[in-house]
Amino acid sequence: MGRILGIIGGGQLGMMIAEAAKKMPKEISKVIVLDPTENCPASQAGAEQIVADFKDKSAILQLAKESDIITYEIESGDSEVLKSVQGIAEIEPSPETLYIIQDKFLQKSFLSDNNIPVPEFVKISSIMDLKEKLKDFGYPVLLKARRDAYDGRGNFKIDNEKQVQNAYEYFNGQNLMLEKFVPFRMEVSVIAARNTKGQIKTFPLVENIHEENILRETLAPARVSADISKKAEEIASKTMSVLKGAGVFGIEMFVTQENNILINEIAPRVHNSGHHTLQSSTTSQFEQHLRAILGLELGETKLEHPTVMYNILGPKSFEGRYKPIELSESHVYLKMYGKQISKPLRKLGHVNLVGNNGETLEKILEKLELIKKKISVQQG
Ligand code: ATP
Ligand code: MG
Repeated sequence: MGRILGIIGGGQLGMMIAEAAKKMPKEISKVIVLDPTENCPASQAGAEQIVADFKDKSAILQLAKESDIITYEIESGDSEVLKSVQGIAEIEPSPETLYIIQDKFLQKSFLSDNNIPVPEFVKISSIMDLKEKLKDFGYPVLLKARRDAYDGRGNFKIDNEKQVQNAYEYFNGQNLMLEKFVPFRMEVSVIAARNTKGQIKTFPLVENIHEENILRETLAPARVSADISKKAEEIASKTMSVLKGAGVFGIEMFVTQENNILINEIAPRVHNSGHHTLQSSTTSQFEQHLRAILGLELGETKLEHPTVMYNILGPKSFEGRYKPIELSESHVYLKMYGKQISKPLRKLGHVNLVGNNGETLEKILEKLELIKKKISVQQG
């Protein structure tokens, strides 16, 4: 008999997990998602839905009662509530792992205690404390909210003394940390998996290009030397072995000017920079996540073809309905998330451009320029 899978969050990540689950009917008989938006993307992919806030205790309890195993597509869940339902359903990754990761200061402390390289960082407890610590750190630095940040909204870059007061007030009393600004050469990430039995596998290193703090393109593989890729993948494996959580994790890193690798942050879930695996690998990150939490042997992670993933974001010019986007091109895979309403910079879908016949990343990037025009989001 297959198991019933509960997912906290039914956005595009939950949707693609639900789609992967459909292909494993022997292991997973049903998917239920908890999401506040009626008709959320995952429910459109056939998952049952409990309509409630991600942090609604009684809804999480209901999800636990109706599921055999619970996972999540967002890291802002309440780890205490998850811990309290652990006896009712299995929770993967574990609430203990989530607790460490969802606080950026705890996460970085944990990594540095395990000799995993991160940018220099320190906890901040008051404006006086900040001013004191800036004497050591110098400028530029990033002041970061420890919790609940996304799309860069929890970061404030401080370039000089004049900005200190503003930066501190921006956060309105939230718990904070300070971090050295890294003038990185490239942003990269590794999608890593650890199954419940301790087996670990990593997908090859990819390169991430952000615009306004939002991921815009992922290039697989990253345009770095084999040495750098190997180093990053080893750091990712080591991270998975100390973290001990089961599931797929997105590990975001910087390549410094000196070609060192520093971890920026870990997402305890499938990650936007792993969407290319839907076409570039024999195992997608979504299937890998299910294999990991179910304790199955992890799938092959080799990159079969160089691939570029491009996010389709809502334009800044309007909020509302948009015209359907269609595309029919060989080796180009369009995936829309079924969101009715476009909002500025909202993730509406993505395309994967897969290299064939030895096409290089450079050739694929040229092709992307033509594709971009065909998939621009128009008010409708
Ligand atoms: P997201 O949801 O996009 O992951 P977030 O709010 O969790 O965002 P971070 O991942 O900490 O924020 O940072 C967002 C971006 O800010 C990074 O991708 C990177 O470009 C930049 N950044 C973060 N920390 C540093 C740093 N120490 N030095 C330089 N740039 C940084
Ligand atoms: Mg980030």
